[in-house]
Amino acid sequence: MHTRRTIAALGAATIASSCATARNLLHPSRGRLAPVHVAAERIIRVDVGLRPYRASGFRVEREVLGEKALIHNYGHGGGGITLSWGTAKLAVDLGYDGGKPDCAVIGCGAVGMATARLLQERGARVRIYARDLPPNTTSDVAGAQWWPSSVFHTPEVRPQFLEQYYTAAHFAFRRYQTFVGDVYGVSWEANYSLSDTPTTTYPAREDSPMRDLVINQQDLAPHEHPFAARYVRRFDTMMIETPLYLRRIEADVREAGGEIVVREFHDVAELRTLPEQTIFNCTGLAAGRLFGDTTIEPVRGQLVILEPQAEVDYNVLRDGDYMFGRRDGIVLGGTFQHGNWSTEPDPEVTQRLLRHHQEIFGAMRQ
Ligand SMILES: Cc1cc2nc3c(=O)[nH]c(=O)nc-3n(C[C@H](O)[C@H](O)[C@H](O)COP(=O)(O)OP(=O)(O)OC[C@H]3O[C@@H](n4cnc5c(N)ncnc54)[C@H](O)[C@@H]3O)c2cc1C
Repeated sequence: MHTRRTIAALGAATIASSCATARNLLHPSRGRLAPVHVAAERIIRVDVGLRPYRASGFRVEREVLGEKALIHNYGHGGGGITLSWGTAKLAVDLGYDGGKPDCAVIGCGAVGMATARLLQERGARVRIYARDLPPNTTSDVAGAQWWPSSVFHTPEVRPQFLEQYYTAAHFAFRRYQTFVGDVYGVSWEANYSLSDTPTTTYPAREDSPMRDLVINQQDLAPHEHPFAARYVRRFDTMMIETPLYLRRIEADVREAGGEIVVREFHDVAELRTLPEQTIFNCTGLAAGRLFGDTTIEPVRGQLVILEPQAEVDYNVLRDGDYMFGRRDGIVLGGTFQHGNWSTEPDPEVTQRLLRHHQEIFGAMRQ
């Protein structure tokens, strides 16, 4: 089977010679899927990250800070990589004043850097202030599938939020397509969602405004997939190799004249002393303590990363767990522990993730 890795080597002429062939190459469900070798000896690292979760959804809002404008852009839960460019657009629309081109962005994760880049595109002079830079942000830990998962709790959101959410998702979906390729580490990949009951609402309900962002969705018959599951739905999403992607975006910020200053703020009063008149708050989970937002909480996630397998270029999702076939490693994940602040790996979680994925791939038809 040709994988996305070998497509590059085939050369443009070969690919262009047949659209039908190209489709099959990019969508491997018609070929044989290589199983993942799940074994403790193949672990290359265990990552823990705290998702910045607000049950009412992310906060993009403008407020006055003395003489300055403060625009909040934080609280993206399990979808901050995905939504970053979209909420950055909302924040920049709310806060950028061409008459005051000097802007401060607090935070150098996916959200802060997307905000910085969109400001630069509008002509702003941007200085990012951050305690941690890539590779030491939560954003570096993310999976990261392009799909906004675990971003809010439906009963707690307001209609105005949903409008922001749909707008942000659609803007981000288009923007990420411009990064597809080796330079930014963004690629299209097939997802297989396995279930013992019919899949009806995942990844989006048929009547959802998110449905048009689900690409190439198909419910597969048993002979069309190798998994031991009664129901298999496949769909395609972009995947973001966060360490490479964030490094590249950081370089873009600098190349466009942006300055990055390592600095930690301890309270809002310190922000008032900045020379910039417009400040974008992209501090993720830390916004809770810094700005007194008691509605934000950590949702702890632990990932077990296995040695890369070049032939595994698809994702599998089952019972809340997932395997993402990334080029820099096979990512096993699926823990969502609300209110847990521990960033220490839990060996029991590692064992559970290994066991579950051994079952899934051990039962795969060869
Ligand atoms: C295990 C796991 C899997 C995930 N998978 C996905 C996925 O598949 N898809 C997806 O879209 N998302 C995923 N996410 C969610 C995503 O990682 C987050 O939503 C996203 O990283 C939030 O980005 P951010 O820029 O707001 O925060 P961060 O990346 O945390 O960046 C915050 C920045 O603010 C700075 N800062 C904080 N406090 C201060 C301060 N006081 N002074 C100065 N600077 C400060 C930090 O140093 C940092 O630079 C996952 C998260 C985890 C943990």
